[in-house]
Amino acid sequence: MVEKAIPFTQRQLEKILKEYPTPFHIYDERGIRQAARELKQAFAWMDGFTNYFAVKALPNPYILQILKAEGFGADCSSLPELLLAERVGITGSDIMFSSNETPIEEYGKAKELGAIINLDDTSHIAYLEKYVGLPDLISFRYNPGPRRAGNAIIGDPKEAKYGLTYDQLFQAYHLAKNKGVKSFGLHAMIASNELNAQYFIETANMLFDLVVEISQRVGITFSFVNLGGGIGIPYRPEQTAFDLQRFSQGVEELYQRKIIKNGLYPLNIVMECGRLITGPHGYLVTTAIHKKETYKDYVGLDACMTNLMRPALYGAYHHITVLGKEQKALSHKYDVVGSLCENFDKFAIDRDLPEVETGDTLIIHDTGAHGHAMGFNYNGKLRSAELLLKENGEVQLIRRAETIEDHFSTLDFSGLAH
Ligand SMILES: *Cc1c(COP(=O)(O)O)cnc(C)c1O
Repeated sequence: MVEKAIPFTQRQLEKILKEYPTPFHIYDERGIRQAARELKQAFAWMDGFTNYFAVKALPNPYILQILKAEGFGADCSSLPELLLAERVGITGSDIMFSSNETPIEEYGKAKELGAIINLDDTSHIAYLEKYVGLPDLISFRYNPGPRRAGNAIIGDPKEAKYGLTYDQLFQAYHLAKNKGVKSFGLHAMIASNELNAQYFIETANMLFDLVVEISQRVGITFSFVNLGGGIGIPYRPEQTAFDLQRFSQGVEELYQRKIIKNGLYPLNIVMECGRLITGPHGYLVTTAIHKKETYKDYVGLDACMTNLMRPALYGAYHHITVLGKEQKALSHKYDVVGSLCENFDKFAIDRDLPEVETGDTLIIHDTGAHGHAMGFNYNGKLRSAELLLKENGEVQLIRRAETIEDHFSTLDFSGLAH
């Protein structure tokens, strides 16, 4: 069980609402810093351990700056994400560039920044070499295919577009070695939003075995393994949080047995978690603007799936708190919906809530990762503002809401015939 708490009192939030109209996402700095520290603390036994925060989860420079201060790097997979990292002063080997189907200008920028480049296919060795030259350090992403089961979100590894096959990995490292690459990394990410620590321990096991095998067969030295992102968070109150201690202990045991015993120390371990760090520490604050009773009872919000796609995209559960009614009985069953002309636009279906009145503030939990970032403009809906609740209790606007002018900014109306 996890408690679905909110990091502000009703009075505090009412004060924020006077200044900032709903809908908006608000992120809790204290919670984010604590999550970052817990992950680092769990891996305190590993000197060089770091997490490259997956920028796509929450691409906001103020958040990246906080995570940089906590000692994290950035995991990027596009040019804008690289530029965002650069703008907050994250450069060099503090950037992991884990991309796929990568355009050459993006590799060019990654190389210019000195980022660690994690290749998604053997053919990218020649592509990189031809256009921007090979860096001294190269990593490859492994896809175990039928050797491993995936999970619900990321799916069956052999259906996943990412990574190299087992056999290709050996060829790839061999080729890179022959082309003068000096040091190497190995990456895998084969689960997403996974709460089972054992799953990640098995991933570490798989990667350590590969490091042993490839080092021997290809005659190269690995400097790191990257266990990817994908650690889950308990979106539902009845779920339990990911057991970081168990995960870390499991990995440490394997590290002793497989890496140290085989004389492969030092081999650093890194990760690329996004959701684990910011997911639980974001809240979409909305207002109930309509109620409707037809075949079902509906609460209509001023937010819609352009502010949070996960329920529509994955059928994901996001907990909802009705501000000021936390102690009231869950006496009503509602579909909580947005205003898109698209019936998927539902934040919750058949959700038990206290009776909602129009004008109530509804807080949708766990929107700190893959929330605002996935937003889009279908139906002409605008993306909301993002706020930061700082450790000192102040609230800072860290992204303003989009305006209609922003939305029309790529159109040139002067070309219309009159
Ligand atoms: C999306 C992604 C991540 C982050 O996933 P989380 O679920 O937010 O931890 C990390 N690495 C890669 C390559 C990704 O595509």
